[in-house]
Amino acid sequence: NGQVVLKGYIEGAPKKDDMEMKIGTVELKAPKGSGALLVKNLYLSCDPYMRARMRNFHGSYIQPFVPGQPIEGFGVAKVLDSDNPNFKPGDFISGFTCWEEYSLIHNTSQLRKIQPDDSIPLSYHLGLLGIAPFLRNLLCMPGFTAYAGFYEICSPKKGECVFVSAASGAVGQLVGQLAKLHGCYVVGSAGSSQKVDLLKNKLGFDEAFNYKEETDLDAALKRYFPQGIDIYFDNVGGAMLDAALLNMQVHGRIAVCGMVSLHSYSDPKGIHNLFCLVTKRIKMQGFLQSDYMHKFPQFLEHVTDSYKQGKIVYIEDMTEGLETAPAAFVGLFSGKNIGKQVVCVARE
Ligand code: NDP
Repeated sequence: NGQVVLKGYIEGAPKKDDMEMKIGTVELKAPKGSGALLVKNLYLSCDPYMRARMRNFHGSYIQPFVPGQPIEGFGVAKVLDSDNPNFKPGDFISGFTCWEEYSLIHNTSQLRKIQPDDSIPLSYHLGLLGIAPFLRNLLCMPGFTAYAGFYEICSPKKGECVFVSAASGAVGQLVGQLAKLHGCYVVGSAGSSQKVDLLKNKLGFDEAFNYKEETDLDAALKRYFPQGIDIYFDNVGGAMLDAALLNMQVHGRIAVCGMVSLHSYSDPKGIHNLFCLVTKRIKMQGFLQSDYMHKFPQFLEHVTDSYKQGKIVYIEDMTEGLETAPAAFVGLFSGKNIGKQVVCVARE
């Protein structure tokens, strides 16, 4: 059973060599009386929050990984054997599994059964239709995060001006498309010309810019938002948040979804413009998508229908083979991924 393990706790930005491939063993059936499932892992999700589990810190909302053990992560898998009446061999599930070929999953309350649908790729259950397990506040499920953050935190109105950072990523690309469907003017920032092109020509953003080419982020935002920003959906924190604060409209809203720049340790300057919250009466709120589970049925219907009607698209960056997982994960922190980063372990 091939596995990817964390070698030891890390400091700073993650590196490929912080993880290694190992051959482990797994019992190829679910033991009687265990209530467990034996699954074959098909697709694994790479998510920025996983960096927080690579340090030896127990005071967070989430436990650290155990060095030497396969990395725990979100995945789509096929049930091979079941000692649980709710699942049977052949079922597809999404939820917490491990970075290995086969996993014995004891905590089945974390799992969700996927109804196969020929028009929706299975791997989209890690991205576009990504939904968190029901018991833990984990920062990992892009689709529902975009939906909950945009509608519940941003209180959008038709015609408002929306700015999205890390806009071509797993969360950002859906936020921008939801905002367009809502009748907003939408601008995204991303870290390459290829991503900017994607935002404007495939994802339907009104405008997009490469923040790495801008020497003055404040000036860049003034260029795209001469009247100010009504809604900032913040995926990155750091210098971009600081510049956005200066450009918010009075009574603007900032949804703090994540701060990936903290994880890449590339932005040491800090935030200076928080006083804008006062002068502009801005509402700035962090959120975890798991607080909005009651909205899940609406999310599923809205996003599935919009996707099937061709009103939204979803871009994935898929690498092939379990051994590609460390590099794929590390790439999130330098912007190597174009769209939702997924690792294909097997295709059934
Ligand atoms: P992405 O697919 O967007 O991948 C991460 C992207 O972040 C990279 O591609 C890169 O894009 C950008 N990035 C990396 N380092 C930096 C940096 N130093 N400064 C600016 N941008 C950087 O990831 P997700 O869509 O999965 O996650 C986006 C955010 O949402 C993260 O902060 C994540 O933690 C958060 N999140 C929060 C949840 C919640 O419930 N609140 C749930 C899920 C995710 P680029 O080329 O544009 O630089």
